[in-house]
Amino acid sequence: MPHETSPLSLAQSLLRCPSVTPEEGGALAFIEGVLKQAGFEVHRPVFSEPGTPDVENLYARYGSGEPYLLFAGHTDVVPPGDASRWTHDPFSGEIHGGELYGRGAVDMKGGVACMMAAALDFIRNTPGFKGSIGFLITGDEEGPAVNGTVKLLEWAKGRGERFDHCILGEPTNPNQLGDMIKIGRRGSLTGRIVVEGKQGHVAYPHLADNPIPGMMRLLSGLLSEPLDHGTEHFDASNLEVTTVDVGNLASNVIPAEVRATFNIRFNDLWTPQSLEEEIESRLREAAGNTVRYRLTMDPTNAVAFLTPPNAFVGFIADAIKAETGFQPKLSTTGGTSDARFIVKDCPVVEFGLVGQTMHQIDERVPVADLDRLTGIYRKVLDAYFAAAS
Ligand SMILES: [Zn+2]
Repeated sequence: MPHETSPLSLAQSLLRCPSVTPEEGGALAFIEGVLKQAGFEVHRPVFSEPGTPDVENLYARYGSGEPYLLFAGHTDVVPPGDASRWTHDPFSGEIHGGELYGRGAVDMKGGVACMMAAALDFIRNTPGFKGSIGFLITGDEEGPAVNGTVKLLEWAKGRGERFDHCILGEPTNPNQLGDMIKIGRRGSLTGRIVVEGKQGHVAYPHLADNPIPGMMRLLSGLLSEPLDHGTEHFDASNLEVTTVDVGNLASNVIPAEVRATFNIRFNDLWTPQSLEEEIESRLREAAGNTVRYRLTMDPTNAVAFLTPPNAFVGFIADAIKAETGFQPKLSTTGGTSDARFIVKDCPVVEFGLVGQTMHQIDERVPVADLDRLTGIYRKVLDAYFAAAS
């Protein structure tokens, strides 16, 4: 039986799959069925890693020519929490007051549905088009993210796949559809400091060594100067001390040790390596030869990246303007995303639904937004492949 391919119907079908990470929940099987019927070649690689659950993924391609435009996203969702607190069952795909309810409505099954609807409509109406359209859909974005996009990209490269451009359909708009395109993301780096002293009685401080003043010097050394003042497309990098822990319950004991953790969201002036060197140098200076400390940095794969505004970004901005009337802001704000992995293979831009209800009880999307986002992706496809021919 042919599948119904309106964005609403596709989104409802996806929402009805209980695909909480790492469960596939039927979501990828559904996408496979729809795309195969439209002539896509579809693969469903499963990836494993010791200590993490196996995860199913999907890769699909239509056409063999160039240019190759890739749509990327995920079908896994965060848990719904207490389902009884939802107005409508989180996995029922119900519509109420013009809004479609369900876990993943905006993050990001709704976005995936719009990409599919747009691609299928483009293929139907553009006989003989020369390029390729692909889908790179992971089931491991909201979880540990080790058996998802990174491995899927490696797998695709191993098959000789080469992408020209990518649209990642995460919910990028803060308030309304058309607000914001993400053309880059900041990197993230976490560091941990331990200052060691010597425990003792507060009345006999000469027999002890309190590590807290030393930690205070180190932290003020870290925070004394801004890391930078921002760049053309990025805000200034920001260091936040997220915790300082002593765990000392006694008011008459000098503690033996104090620990602190900080996280830095950094722009394109830094790499994790150059940032680590900067942190080490600030701590060395603040410590002088009196504070004994240890610094460790958590491993990170969250580097900063930028897709400079170019013709591709222009196609998306123009399509948004035509469909919504808004001139979208080109932004690099917010947390990290899978775009940081994709950008190693091709320029990537993020644009999807409105993020307001993501990860919340009663996550939902206006049905009108699904139609308009589909219209935007559809216009991008027209402009992208017209420019290439
Ligand atoms: Zn997401």
